[in-house]
Amino acid sequence: MTMPKRMWNAETIGDFRRKLSGWYRRHRRELPWRADPTPYRIWISEVMLQQTQTKTVLRYYDRFLERFPDVESLAGASQPELQNAWSGLGYYRRAQNLHRAAVEIAEKHPPFPEDFRTILALPGIGRYTAGAICSIAFNQPYPAVDGNVRRVLTRLTATRGQVPESYFWDLVSGWIPRRSPSEFNQAMMELGALVCVPKRPKCRRCPVRAFCAARRIGIERKIPGVGLKPARKRLRIAFLVLEQKQRILLSRASAGSLIPGDWGLPWQLVPGQESAEETASSLCKTIFRGKIRLEPCATVRHTISNHQITGFGFYGKAEPGEAEARADDGFRWEKRDSIGKCLTSSIFHKVLGKRS
Ligand code: SF4
Repeated sequence: MTMPKRMWNAETIGDFRRKLSGWYRRHRRELPWRADPTPYRIWISEVMLQQTQTKTVLRYYDRFLERFPDVESLAGASQPELQNAWSGLGYYRRAQNLHRAAVEIAEKHPPFPEDFRTILALPGIGRYTAGAICSIAFNQPYPAVDGNVRRVLTRLTATRGQVPESYFWDLVSGWIPRRSPSEFNQAMMELGALVCVPKRPKCRRCPVRAFCAARRIGIERKIPGVGLKPARKRLRIAFLVLEQKQRILLSRASAGSLIPGDWGLPWQLVPGQESAEETASSLCKTIFRGKIRLEPCATVRHTISNHQITGFGFYGKAEPGEAEARADDGFRWEKRDSIGKCLTSSIFHKVLGKRS
């Protein structure tokens, strides 16, 4: 691990902040949540941006806010309404957590909590999101270190190798100005998004290049190294595409399921030595009485969080009378035409897409 070479004393930090804020005021993007940074609007934007690119979020943000303009309306949303408004953003569990948090806020902390610890304790809110809400909406001096900010800090201090996560949080805590934490945090995020980008940082246009240790020693394109990313875990999953009278069988997701969403195709992880066919066949037997002939219909690749998934789809026709689904409220038949509205994870769409 290489620690910062340049001393970040009070004078340096003051100069750095001035350069950064001057640049931010001139170059910041006009984003809808910046126009009216209420805690509710900032919260929704930060949750949407967690695993979705800004350009995609921009297509859905205003529509979501029109449908759910405040905590009360979100707390009162039904699952189909929520699913409909979130459709296209992916990782549906984020929307479910938003809803749970909105219910909690409406009941216990209306109109919106201002205390960092209360916000942090809400469902789906981690240290970064709580810091972003407190600093941007309430101008409280809490750090908010996302991937962009971490990259900027890594390069400014020429930090190499693995460092504990707390290192960056402690570092930037000492840089946040008491008077304008909202602007400082947003400027750091914006610098990472527009200038200090992952592969080819635009150092010649960078307002804080004079402070940058990585640029000074010529390693700005080498850090943060790819080695810092944890290796993705490889998984195999068998999916069933079971059809009866133009309807496809869906199964309800269990709590904490790897694949987000309430409903999906029946699926099961393929254990070590087993083949995907064997797993699909035994899964089918747990659902149906009677025999169904399965045939391979899709092989897809997909990434969820830290998992690299290879999915194997198996199609089977369940003729009425020959094979019947076990009585269980964990399953339902859905018309092919309307299935898109029920499936929130794109891995199911990939499997179905290959079949049709
Ligand atoms: Fe990033 Fe280059 Fe600016 Fe350093 S000088 S902070 S590497 S854009």
